[in-house]
Order: sequence, then C-alpha cells, then structure tokens
Amino acid sequence: MLLVLFALLLGTGCSVAPGKTLGEHPAPADALVVNFIDVGQGDATLIQSGGKNYLIDGGRYEAGPEVVDFLRSRGVQKLDGLVATHPDADHVGGLPQVLDAFDVSTVYLSGDTKGTSTFGTFLRSVRDEGARVVQSRAGMRMDWGGTDATVISPPPDSEGGLFPEPNDNSVSILLTRGTARILLSGDAEAPAERYMSLGPYAGPLTVMKVNHHGSNTSTTPLLLSRFRPSIAVISVGADNPYGHPTPQTLRRLKVAGAKVFRTDEDGDVIVTVKDDDVEVAVTKP
Ligand SMILES: [Zn+2]
Repeated sequence: MLLVLFALLLGTGCSVAPGKTLGEHPAPADALVVNFIDVGQGDATLIQSGGKNYLIDGGRYEAGPEVVDFLRSRGVQKLDGLVATHPDADHVGGLPQVLDAFDVSTVYLSGDTKGTSTFGTFLRSVRDEGARVVQSRAGMRMDWGGTDATVISPPPDSEGGLFPEPNDNSVSILLTRGTARILLSGDAEAPAERYMSLGPYAGPLTVMKVNHHGSNTSTTPLLLSRFRPSIAVISVGADNPYGHPTPQTLRRLKVAGAKVFRTDEDGDVIVTVKDDDVEVAVTKP
C-alpha cells in the first residue's frame, strides 16, 4: 500500500497533504516516477519514464533480493539503463543480483578505477551480461523515456577530470521533465557539490536526493543556496553506525525550507511527476 503524503503544484508552490491511499501498480507511462527504494543503509533509486526503466545503484549485497522484488512489483521486466554512481558496497553490492534477474542494456560509470572487491564482482557481472558500458561525465545528455537525463558531475577531463575522492566522483544525474527538476548525485561531498553549484545546471529543484545519506560533509550551504530543493529525500538505514543523517544536515535542510522524507522512517519514497503535479507517496506511514 502506498499513502500519498504530499503533493506540490509546480509553479504556484501550493502544497496539500491529501492522505489518499493507492495500491501498488506499474508506473503510468505518461508520468515520471522516481522510486527511492528502502534498502536500509545505502542507495537504490528506480526511475520509470515513458515505459522505460532505469536503476541508479542497488544497495548493499543483503538488499539485492529486496531491490529485485521491488522492481518486479513496479512492473519492471528489463532495465534500459543501470547507473553505478561510485564503487562503494552500499551502492553496488546488490547490483550483481539485479543483473542476474533482469536484462540490462547499458551501464553508466564515472570511469573512476578506485574500487573495492565488491565493485570488482559488479564489473564481472556487467561483463557477463554483455551490457554496453558508457563513461559518464558532466555534459552528457540522455533521453530517458521523454525525461531529459543530464550528467552534471563528475567533470569531464577537459574541466579537470575526476576528483581525488571516490565519493565526489559519484555519477550525478539531473532529471528534467516539464518544469520539474530532480537531482540524484550519490555520495557527492563538498568538492563535487561546489562544482555542480557553480556550473550551468544550478537552479531550483523539485526533488533532491540528499547526498551521502545526510552526512555532514555533504548538503553544503552552497549547494542548498544554488539548488533550493522543495523536497529532499534521505536514503538511510535506521540506527546506522555513521550517525546519518546528522542533526546539522537536517537543520540546514530545514532552514532551506525543504520538505524532508527519509527511507528509515517513511519506507519506500515514491515521487510521481505528471503534467505540473508532483506527488510523494510512502510505504511506511
Ligand atoms: Zn553511500
């Protein structure tokens, strides 16, 4: 069961909380649906647009079966694209199970070679799948089922290339559909946030996935001032050992006026953009 908790009318800033209940069903083909899957500590985001399906990260190894089940529950039969933002186990651990369960056409990577053994296992699964691998840097634009998907970080080699820290090299994707803008930037921290904030894609966001699970080294005042999110989603495990999200990050989001959803408290967070309406539904009301 999904409970619609929050709706935003783009352009007017008007919001209501209708509390209406929806059943689980495949995404409507004429909407953009961004599903922040509750994978405990980690990230896994399913994007459904125009009948196509894209997955950004797949949680830890332990979360693999949940991610596969979630995709099936949303009507996914194959993935048109799979993004591994960066090599950390809480992002790529579950992806080999996803590659086993679904045909995957294309895999998007930053090209950062600093990896873990978990990342090595993922790369072997990609090779076995025979998927096309695309190195993804800022400026790359894709059409994801009628939604514009633009990579806005990490920088291309012509702009200095990769950052020293793997988190900052998270493949960061800005989705644009009509007037809605949604930013998904993995575990990007201050240096990558600065690059994005000072670049050509800054501007108000409808939804921002909070970087690095709400760590204090991300969600800088600069990022918030340049992107001004209406809705912020934190993908985080309950009682995680890292103290995510930190009180400081939550305070900065509050000061910025963002409506915050978090997977540890709300379960799956499902954002539907249709025409000029944005609805947020959760599975743990
Ligand atoms: Zn992470």
